[in-house]
Amino acid sequence: MTKILAPGDTVGILGGGQLGRMLALAAARLGLNCHIFEPQPSPPAGQVAHRVTTADYDDHAALRAFAGSVDVVTFEFENIPLGVLDTIESVTNIYPPQKALAVSQDRVAEKGFLTDLGFQVAPYAPVDTPADFDAAVAITGTPAILKTRRFGYDGKGQLKVTEEAISDALRDLMQSAPCVLESFVDFTREISVIGARNPDGQVACFDPGENVHKNGILSTTTVPAQLTAAQRTDAVILTGRIMNALNYVGVMGVELFVTPAGLLVNEIAPRVHNSGHWTQNGCVIDQFEQHIRAVAGWPMGDARRHSNVTMTNLIGNAVQDIDGLRGDPDVALHLYGKAEVRAGRKMGHSNRITGPA
Ligand code: AMP
Repeated sequence: MTKILAPGDTVGILGGGQLGRMLALAAARLGLNCHIFEPQPSPPAGQVAHRVTTADYDDHAALRAFAGSVDVVTFEFENIPLGVLDTIESVTNIYPPQKALAVSQDRVAEKGFLTDLGFQVAPYAPVDTPADFDAAVAITGTPAILKTRRFGYDGKGQLKVTEEAISDALRDLMQSAPCVLESFVDFTREISVIGARNPDGQVACFDPGENVHKNGILSTTTVPAQLTAAQRTDAVILTGRIMNALNYVGVMGVELFVTPAGLLVNEIAPRVHNSGHWTQNGCVIDQFEQHIRAVAGWPMGDARRHSNVTMTNLIGNAVQDIDGLRGDPDVALHLYGKAEVRAGRKMGHSNRITGPA
């Protein structure tokens, strides 16, 4: 049974990174408290939340106590051990649903799910051991990308395959974990749709954003994406259908490749998504509030875009070079409160308003 949260109630969030932080800020605007569960001390979300539990994900007593102290549980990252969710579900509701997490945690399960729904994905083949490689290349051709089936993010656990011979690096990756080989997609552009669905099945999708990655990490998202009206409609309907099929509750990010042969789904993320940060300054209700609304059983906010926006991630040292951004009247800065600057670490982002929608 869905509980409809009232101001003063508490949302539990697994994970205390920047996504948890921005969820907690959105919850606070609605009069809701947040309780963060995070193994690392002093997480970014902890600075703005009502309460923090510092414990490991295998500490099931701590998980039960956490679940018992909140009115609903959600999460900010998808690599949560599924056993954690069983423990929490024995105490309270968790959204998005476990099925969405199970599908998105395994690239092969994810591609099977999407194909069953009738959507296109890049040709692929599982590679459980190096012995599977030759048969897989026969399916994908080259160039291709070898990815670990699980626990990949920001381009980690991925290698480009340019020839049919196995290099040392490819062999190391294949021996480190089960993998999947997929054809390299010669896309026109990369886009993503941020959708939201509440327990009543009400769906609201934000306008697709156009994404540029550098070194496997999202660099910018720009709205509006350069799409035809038909492509935009396809992308939004596809996202709604994925959420309906999973009986989904919460915000989901769907990453798509635009190709001359139509849209291909790259991956789905069962959480608020970096490519949806533009909504903070481009819409009346942003992705973080939509997610909180959905898990709280509230109506979905209107997902209309009032402004054109370019979101730029501040990665590593880029966060030390924000004097110009601070004084720019068209820029909203969002910094994550991370004490230590590290190469490749997401430290904040800027949203530049480029005009009215
Ligand atoms: P992923 O972790 O799967 O989201 O991949 C990160 C980024 O790598 C994507 O956003 C693309 O820019 C690129 N990429 C991943 N898979 C492919 C592919 N099959 N073909 C071309 N580029 C890809």
